[in-house]
Amino acid sequence: GTDRSTASKRVLLAAPRGYCAGVDRAVVTVEKALDLYGPPVYVRKEIVHNKHVVTTLEKRGAIFVDETQEVPHGATVIFSAHGVAPIVHEEAKALSLKTIDATCPLVTKVHREAKRFASDDYDILLIGHEGHEEVVGTSGEAPEHITLVQSPDHVDEVEVRDPEKVVWLSQTTLSVDETMETVRRLREKFPKLQDPPSDDICYATQNRQLAVKQMAHETDLMIVVGSRNSSNSVRLVEVALEHGARDGHLVDYADEIDEAWLTGVTTVGVTSGASVPEILVRDVLEFLAERGFDDVVPIVAAEESLLFALPNELRRDLKAKN
Ligand code: SF4
Repeated sequence: GTDRSTASKRVLLAAPRGYCAGVDRAVVTVEKALDLYGPPVYVRKEIVHNKHVVTTLEKRGAIFVDETQEVPHGATVIFSAHGVAPIVHEEAKALSLKTIDATCPLVTKVHREAKRFASDDYDILLIGHEGHEEVVGTSGEAPEHITLVQSPDHVDEVEVRDPEKVVWLSQTTLSVDETMETVRRLREKFPKLQDPPSDDICYATQNRQLAVKQMAHETDLMIVVGSRNSSNSVRLVEVALEHGARDGHLVDYADEIDEAWLTGVTTVGVTSGASVPEILVRDVLEFLAERGFDDVVPIVAAEESLLFALPNELRRDLKAKN
């Protein structure tokens, strides 16, 4: 038989991977706020769902809190990329907080859609994961009009007031394929179901899944760099396994890779979620190179060039200082 250990070992490296425009903007917002106002700067919830990013910013003087009430009266607070419900803005106002809203503009877009359909008195079926911060924020825009649909299997339980006036929206970081299956089943039940005015699953989520799909069938082991609470990262492992990767794991750091995963493996796929700094991917590539996987082949599914301006509140203060 073939001796697998001498077969050429290679890495397929997905592109795009890592930081999206919304994450980049949110992280830079905290960094610039720390420079401008000096520590401590409070951040409500993890600014983005990545352990390394959060610990790095903590060391620079960011204080992460779960609830607005934990921020001292009059202090500066940054809202995370995932967005907040309107009530959170009210809580901050009651405490006289200076707020900087780092909500990704693509999440804000979904909030606007929710508000508009709610004011037209639609039943809104929001596809997303219960308890995820983005879903909590979006639902908070119109709680009495929004019903959460977690997966295709939950469609049977969904009820609406008027099946003639129903629209679906979604969380930005879902599996594209699973979401389409949920929509298909919803439409079977509610033939008049309307689509959102534009894609809610964001370009970054879609592109990262696309790259993984292109390489999964050739991959013995897919390593996705990302944190457990990062929805888009978790989806990348699922997409890889659904599209033919023999094995797949999510790791925060290279040292979480179990050597046993590499047994009999010749092709390793590597990618990272939208909240993951590139340094963590480089650590993984180094770990693999040290074990003979030093032939790195890029798999490019799309080019990305989107950039978002920093939040207005922050830009104003930066300008005033210069
Ligand atoms: Fe925005 Fe998409 Fe990035 Fe989320 S994953 S921050 S919606 S660009």
